Amino acid sequence: MEQTQWFSPEKIAQLQVEKLRQLLINANTHVPYYRKLFADLDFQPEKIVSLADLQRLPFLDKPTIRAHLEDLKSDRAQGLARFNTGGSSGEPLVFFIGKERVSHDIAAKWRATRWWGVDIGDPEIVVWGSPIELGAQDTLRTWRDHLFRSKLLPAFEMSDRKLDDFLDTIRRFRPGMLFGYPSALSHIAQYADKAGIAMHDLGIRVAFVTSERLYDDQRKQISHTFGCPVANGYGGRDAGFIAHECPAGGMHITAEDIIVEIVDPHGYPLPHGESGEIVVTHLASGDFPFIRYRTGDIGTLDDKVCECGRGLPLIREIQGRTTDFVVARDGTVMHGLALIYILRDMPEIKVFRIIQENLDLTRIQIVTETGLSPLLIDRIIESFQSRLGRDVVIRVEQVSDIPAEKSGKFRYVISKVAGI
Ligand SMILES: [Zn+2]
Repeated sequence: MEQTQWFSPEKIAQLQVEKLRQLLINANTHVPYYRKLFADLDFQPEKIVSLADLQRLPFLDKPTIRAHLEDLKSDRAQGLARFNTGGSSGEPLVFFIGKERVSHDIAAKWRATRWWGVDIGDPEIVVWGSPIELGAQDTLRTWRDHLFRSKLLPAFEMSDRKLDDFLDTIRRFRPGMLFGYPSALSHIAQYADKAGIAMHDLGIRVAFVTSERLYDDQRKQISHTFGCPVANGYGGRDAGFIAHECPAGGMHITAEDIIVEIVDPHGYPLPHGESGEIVVTHLASGDFPFIRYRTGDIGTLDDKVCECGRGLPLIREIQGRTTDFVVARDGTVMHGLALIYILRDMPEIKVFRIIQENLDLTRIQIVTETGLSPLLIDRIIESFQSRLGRDVVIRVEQVSDIPAEKSGKFRYVISKVAGI
C-alpha cells in the first residue's frame, strides 16, 4: 500500500478491476448467495473488464444481509468475526468479517496514520465508546494497548470529574496522536480551555477523528487546544476504512481495497462531482462479501488530483453521520452512541429513533417485525435508566414506520438538552 498509493489513477483503477474480478469469481465459487444471484442474472464474473460491469449487480442493503446472513458466508471462511453496527443509520445489523479484511482495514489505517508522521508504536490516546473495546474482553484490550502503546478513555461518560482525569491522563501519557469522535475530542478540548489547562505543549502531532461528521468549529477547537492539525477519516465496521484525509487536505479513498460508487435516490450511478449515496464494494471481503453495499451516507467523488501527489481518488462533502450528546439526570454528559448501542444489539428491532425531550423524559420509537414483548420493553427501560438515571421516564412507543430524515436513511434523533 505504501507503493500503490503513488500509482497513477489509471493504474489504480486497473488494479481495482483485477481485484474485483477475483472477488466476484471467488463469490461465485464459494458464497451460496452470490452463486444463486449470478446464475439468476446470467452474470459471468470472469468476463468483468471494467468497473462499470459492477452496475449489473443489485445493491447489498441491510435487509438483504439480514435475510441471507448464513448464505453470505464463504464455504471456506475460517475464524469469521461477528460484528454489529447501526450507530449511524439506526438500523441494527449483524454481519461477519474475515481475517483478510481485518488485516487490510488495519493496514489502511496505519498507512493513513503515517501520512501524518505518526507510526506504529507511537503512543496514542483513544477516546472511544465501542463495546468491543470497552466490554469484557480485557485480554484483547491489554494486548492491544501494549502492542500499539494505546490508552483508551471511555467516551460515553463525561462528568467534570472524569474530564479532569482525562486531561490528567493525556498530560502524563504525552501521546503522539489522539483518536476519537470529533464531538468527544472537541468536548474535552472545550473543557480544558474553560478550566485553563494547557494541552498544546505535549507534542501531539495530529488528532484523528472519525465516525461522525466533523464540523468546522470542532476542527478549530481541537486544533487550537491540542496544538495540532485534525485529520478526518471516513469508514465503519461494516463498510471498511473508506477514506482518510492527507496533510494536503484531500480525502483519499483506500482504492486498493474499496470501490466507491455514488448513486442517486433511484440507484443510478452519478457522474463525478454530483452528490449522492455512497455505495462501496470491499475488495478484501471474500469471506463475507460486501458488494455494492449501501452506506446510507451522502458524498461526492472528486476528479481533482491532490497536491500531495498520491493517485488515490478523492471523495468530499461526506454528510450524514452526526451524533449529539445526551445528558443524564445527574448532569453527566454522555455520547449518544451510549444509548444507540443498547438498541442496536437487540435483533428484534428493525429501526429506531431516540428523542430526549428533556432531562426527565426520553421517548424511544421502535419498528419491529414481530412486535414488542413486555420483556423486551422492560429490558430497554432498565438499560436506558441505568445510563440516564433511575427516576427518568423512558417511554417506549411501537410505530409502523419512522420517516427518513436528512439523507434518507437517518432515523434517529437525539435532541440536545438546552445549555449543552
Ligand atoms: Zn493528498
